[in-house]
Amino acid sequence: MSEQAVVKRQFGHRARLAMTPALSLKLDEQAHAARAMWNLLHAWWQMMPKDQRTLAHADAAIRQSRKDIDFLAVVPAQAAQAVLKTYVQAWKNCWGGRADAPNFKTRIRTVMSLDIPQGQHLNIVRVHRRWGVVNIPKVGRVRFRWTKDLPVGKRADQNNRITGARLVKDDLGWHISFRVQTLEPEPEPHKGPEVGIDVGVTIPLALSDGGKFEHGAWLTDREQAKLLCLERRSAALRQYRKRGEKASKRLQHVYDQIARLRAKAKRRRQDWQHKTTTTIARTYGTVVVEALQITNMVKSAKGAIDRPGKNVARKAGLNRSILAEAWGRMVAMLDYKLTRRGGNLVKVPAPGTSQRCSMCGVTTPGNRESQAVFVCKNPDCGWSGNADHNAGRNVLHLYRIGLVAIPAAGRRSRQARQRVQPATAR
Ligand SMILES: [Zn+2]
Repeated sequence: MSEQAVVKRQFGHRARLAMTPALSLKLDEQAHAARAMWNLLHAWWQMMPKDQRTLAHADAAIRQSRKDIDFLAVVPAQAAQAVLKTYVQAWKNCWGGRADAPNFKTRIRTVMSLDIPQGQHLNIVRVHRRWGVVNIPKVGRVRFRWTKDLPVGKRADQNNRITGARLVKDDLGWHISFRVQTLEPEPEPHKGPEVGIDVGVTIPLALSDGGKFEHGAWLTDREQAKLLCLERRSAALRQYRKRGEKASKRLQHVYDQIARLRAKAKRRRQDWQHKTTTTIARTYGTVVVEALQITNMVKSAKGAIDRPGKNVARKAGLNRSILAEAWGRMVAMLDYKLTRRGGNLVKVPAPGTSQRCSMCGVTTPGNRESQAVFVCKNPDCGWSGNADHNAGRNVLHLYRIGLVAIPAAGRRSRQARQRVQPATAR
């Protein structure tokens, strides 16, 4: 066997937990207690003189609070330690200029979560082709959907294992995110062809070689009608609510139903994004995309109050569809999926890709006849075809002539630092 370079890979794998309502409530209780612990810790931290704010003191305070306050005892000891660790890390992030100072966590608007910091407590077993079972401290054995080959049981060793997990609740219920660590042979360079991709208006993804990826509506007609009906009902119920008054139980129930439908649409969208990006990363070696500044596009369409943008309604529609496609997320997915397979992702500056004719190379502003059809105004050419595929070919062309966008990572981190400074000076 020839010696092959190996790379360490760390990634998360998310699975939905199949829990009875009773167990789900138990986890809710734990998560609320963990949040209360964070709040107590934060109050303690602010109260203490600066020289006594140490990890050891905080640890002692947490241990004591678990003895003194009954409802805090439901949090497993490891999860309580994780709260302390995340809290200290939050301050480190703040001092390093990467985040704002930690604050209290409110009951609403806080994502419910719990940490299981050590992998050996999980005791994962695959019990069926589609199901696995995981141990959740102080809750018990819970089933989850088995959709990925995880390194558990005999397949686990020092280099390939699950190092921990995090439980997170969203509108569809509790999920588990495993932290997986593997050692893989370094990928050979990808032998697949080059491709340019355009985020189309009529086609979600148009490829320079004529291929395309499409999807239907994320919600069925029935679900869409239901959503509309729920939104109307919530508007009607809100009329009876006074300013600053808590939402009634009935209104809260409507909110929950709306959130569940939206979460369903989001889940379907993410599923499509994952499947599509995996197919692309398997097929192509080099993928070229436009370096889109999505936030800038949104801003320019709305304009300022004193000088409103042109074509606001139409651009807003375009923006909405761009945001709905969540292109940024897909590019991130493409990036890591390509890197893993030895391919690479290239970003090129965007201007003019929709107005340039990919046949003759002439750019004329009136070239694009409609959103869907491109007709070349050059009398010697006169080519016409699908506008999105044309843009895809232009994107690939920009890469082939060596026009590659420089990542703006450095600039972003400086902005973040500037944003934090006033908070620390206070
Ligand atoms: Zn032309």
